[in-house]
Amino acid sequence: LIVPDNPIIPFIEGDGIGKEIWAAANKIFDKAIEKAYQGKRKVEWHEVLAGEKSFNLNGNWLPDETMNAFKKYLIGIKGPLTTPVGGGIRSLNVALRQELDLYVCLRPVRWFKGVESPVKYPEKVNMTIFRENTEDIYAGIEWMQGTPEAEKFYQFLSEQMGVKKVRFPKTSSFGVKPVSIEGSERLIRSAINYALQHNLPSVTLVHKGNIMKFTEGGFKQWGYELAEKEFSDAVFTMNQYAKIQKTDGKATADKALNDAISASKLIVKDVICDAFLQNTLLNPQDYSVVATLNLNGDYVSDQLAAMVGGIGIAPGANINYLTGHAIFEATHGTAPNIAGQNQANPSSLLLSGVMMFDYLGWHEVGQLITQAMETLFQQGKATNDLARFMQNGQPLSTTQFTQAVID
Ligand code: NAD
Repeated sequence: LIVPDNPIIPFIEGDGIGKEIWAAANKIFDKAIEKAYQGKRKVEWHEVLAGEKSFNLNGNWLPDETMNAFKKYLIGIKGPLTTPVGGGIRSLNVALRQELDLYVCLRPVRWFKGVESPVKYPEKVNMTIFRENTEDIYAGIEWMQGTPEAEKFYQFLSEQMGVKKVRFPKTSSFGVKPVSIEGSERLIRSAINYALQHNLPSVTLVHKGNIMKFTEGGFKQWGYELAEKEFSDAVFTMNQYAKIQKTDGKATADKALNDAISASKLIVKDVICDAFLQNTLLNPQDYSVVATLNLNGDYVSDQLAAMVGGIGIAPGANINYLTGHAIFEATHGTAPNIAGQNQANPSSLLLSGVMMFDYLGWHEVGQLITQAMETLFQQGKATNDLARFMQNGQPLSTTQFTQAVID
């Protein structure tokens, strides 16, 4: 990306606690930029509307101007949005992702010392999840049982598979799981590029190919093929390992793997999703970059977030690495139960901002913010959602925490 020194960045404040966490993040971002670049760089924040605030002002949940601003300025940041219930309006987040074709949901997961974790060695958790954002069972192709479409689909299956092989009742609902080569390849290519750029040791393809052979299994197979074809000099895959083992035996395969590790090659491996979830609890250090399909990615992201302190602190971004479009966002919801009470934790939005500054190449800004948060959490200084579980916890309000980060 070529980034001007004074980029215009559109932001959506967000509903519920959005107003409070955006106010906090905005203040901290500006202070960190000022400290890092002494006035030589500055962001021109440009508010765009979406969600309840937008609906109350102009009757539109997601105005065209908002979409156009994200298209024009490439990069944006947002707080949480209330999902409209009924009225034929789909999720606003999904609409943004689909319109900009943001095919990667990027979720880094790391632990901050001092933050309470349900696992024994949270310091071993350091992963970056690449979740495919556009395909899979999330494509929204479903038919409710009893509808003419569901019956027609049942009929179609019976004809294709033979009535005897269709073992489910006629009264079933159906969902379709599309997984394409193109969709899988662009996701896995982004994950491998990221791992190489950040000098990370491995990319793990997480899948359920043992059960869903052509969709989840396809994802794994296409991933290995892509890694071996496009990154042949830089990676060694466990698929290559298996082939060597078959022809030349285990000792030769082990040697090839060790040689690859000594040569600092990126190791591309795969694991079945249920085993992965278990292993992340037992041996999280075995995983670095993770590439996975949409539904697995949803489960995996939340489990890993819980392992390092929960959604109040987990950042995220939706990115199209081909066009450069990216929206950085708090991963939690609007928390209506604490909205307006000066209690909300701005950390998820702050760390999403850190990701955004890294994406812009403004690494110094992200480092300043991260260091401040590390220091505070070690002292037990955090908003109540985290502080109440800390051994030396000192609960701060949103505004007190914001000032402490700045100080
Ligand atoms: P939620 O994430 O808003 O809240 C779940 C729990 O976590 C609540 O107890 C809340 O107080 C707490 N919490 C969440 N973020 C926090 C923070 N930053 N600091 C302190 N505590 C925090 O989930 P929900 O209640 O299921 O959803 C509420 C609304 O948010 C719904 O309209 C939902 O559709 C929407 N939502 C939006 C997004 C998004 O825009 N990305 C994501 C999830 C949910």
